[in-house]
Amino acid sequence: MRSSPDYTVRESARATRVCLKISLAGQLEVVVPRGFDPRRVPALVDRKRAWIDTALRRVDEQRSLFAPNISKALPNEIILQAIGERWNVEYHTLADANRVTLLPQQDARLIVRGAVDNTTLCRTALKIWLSRQAQTHLVPWLDEISAQTGLSYRQARVRGQKTRWGSCSRSRTINLNYKLLFLAAPLVRCVLVHELCHTVHFNHSSSFWTLMAEKEPGYKALDVELRTARRHVPGWAD
Ligand SMILES: [Zn+2]
Repeated sequence: MRSSPDYTVRESARATRVCLKISLAGQLEVVVPRGFDPRRVPALVDRKRAWIDTALRRVDEQRSLFAPNISKALPNEIILQAIGERWNVEYHTLADANRVTLLPQQDARLIVRGAVDNTTLCRTALKIWLSRQAQTHLVPWLDEISAQTGLSYRQARVRGQKTRWGSCSRSRTINLNYKLLFLAAPLVRCVLVHELCHTVHFNHSSSFWTLMAEKEPGYKALDVELRTARRHVPGWAD
């Protein structure tokens, strides 16, 4: 719970009653009709506390969803929660190099070699490696769930979408985001089942959710977690 929320009061000639507004920045504004006694505002805000808390929490969630980790710094360690892998990343400079090469080692070291001062090149190489990891691990996982649930698809592709974890086209092609690798396995599974359910219902109708509940009974709690899961994606990978 929050302590008493900060707010501003604005008098509006058009307002006929008191109205509470919350901006995307999380600012609470109390709009009152002309002539409204400002001394009545604190009690009014107090009465609306439950509503305000819920609305502020929702705005917080939206913000963490749309503002992922800002730092684009290159990683020294990469933790792929989805598949339980942890990689140590080493950067080896090569004189006169104008590109970088990634060399995954057996002992979970990932060597980035070449023009490692060029962070853009390094990030690109790391993202290509990530999407290969996704191809190796997420696509067979999708196959496995497809067999378990009896929901078939035509083709799977790995991409680096900005705003979605996965999608399914009308031709039953499923696109998976390689950033799923940073999420906990149950969340990834929920996304995979969700996209497979779209091969039957190409919408979010009640029939879709009925099928989803049948194939993944705990999906509701997982969907709530997914709303803010983008914060697990490191900035360099986004
Ligand atoms: Zn969907």
